[in-house]
Amino acid sequence: MITVMKFGGTSVGSAEALTRSAKIIADGEGGKAVVISAMSGVTNQLLWFLDTEGACANDVIAGLMKKHTDAAKEVLNGKQLKNFMTDFEKRIESLRHLIDDKNARNDPFFRDNISSQGERLSSVLMAHVLMSMNVESVAMTAEEAGISAVGAPGLGSANLSKTSDGLMMSVKPLIMRGVVPVITGFYGCNEEGKPLTFGRGGSDYSAAVVANGLDADCLEIWTDVDGFMSADPRVVPEAIKIDEMNFGEAAELAYLGAKVLHPRTIEPVRMKHIPVKVRNSFKPQSQGTLIHHLKKKKNELLRSVAMKADLSIITVSSSEIAYRPRMVARIIEKISDAGVIL
Ligand code: ASP
Ligand code: MG
Repeated sequence: MITVMKFGGTSVGSAEALTRSAKIIADGEGGKAVVISAMSGVTNQLLWFLDTEGACANDVIAGLMKKHTDAAKEVLNGKQLKNFMTDFEKRIESLRHLIDDKNARNDPFFRDNISSQGERLSSVLMAHVLMSMNVESVAMTAEEAGISAVGAPGLGSANLSKTSDGLMMSVKPLIMRGVVPVITGFYGCNEEGKPLTFGRGGSDYSAAVVANGLDADCLEIWTDVDGFMSADPRVVPEAIKIDEMNFGEAAELAYLGAKVLHPRTIEPVRMKHIPVKVRNSFKPQSQGTLIHHLKKKKNELLRSVAMKADLSIITVSSSEIAYRPRMVARIIEKISDAGVIL
């Protein structure tokens, strides 16, 4: 049995959160692969650096070092801390290298490369925290794991069959030996070997892609809320947690604004009938929401309500449309070429 476990930014955002999440991993049964987000706030920090003229690279790097090493110092002792620092400094060194390389900025994938650096740091930290709990573990970048992506910068999609080949070669043998790989979420690697991100919050999607590629038995999304709710509790305080729902409902809710899952998480797992559990890493005793093939019961109308703001509706009308073959297709193609999310 293989479980893919994904931990979001807040679930790895502090020494306590890391320890709690590592304990959940250590307690999990069977073979496990972990997919991880950057520590909370780190991706925003990296994007701020990219978007702010005059932002000081040394300050940003110093801030990232402090955040990770402060947490490490609380959790790891002497030798463990030293081993962590050796691996961590290698990652910081390559970030420094990337920022100092003036040519790298002209690369269309520079933004993807910088914004995905947080996952490279958090994965090393989590692997070392696991090792300190006697769980054999190894940090792996998406490149090393073989997560393959296609698409324009910032808008990547996984190539599922190529990713599966990569994972079966690099990750599966580790799981079979009882090692827990901690894989960077949020991005894959394109044909030229460049990092290509899956959009904000994309680590959920990465985890679903890994579950698909490994033919996992279950995908667990460990986050900071109890699961899918009947409505957004900030708007409707009486909202209740939903115990189970089907893939279609989860996909639709995520797409239409429920923040709990990245909208594209469901597709790669639905294809292979892999059940998904959305659970709260701060309350591991609570069961969360189970998403699977669930038939609707008679008289069951509505599971949950989600809302999306800032939408635009474009109406295209012409009496000619019906008489012009492919006209609608061409309109949709143009809108999609302009990067509008439909
Ligand atoms: N760290 C990335 C972000 O904040 C990806 C993720 O958290 O899923 O968007
Ligand atoms: Mg994040």
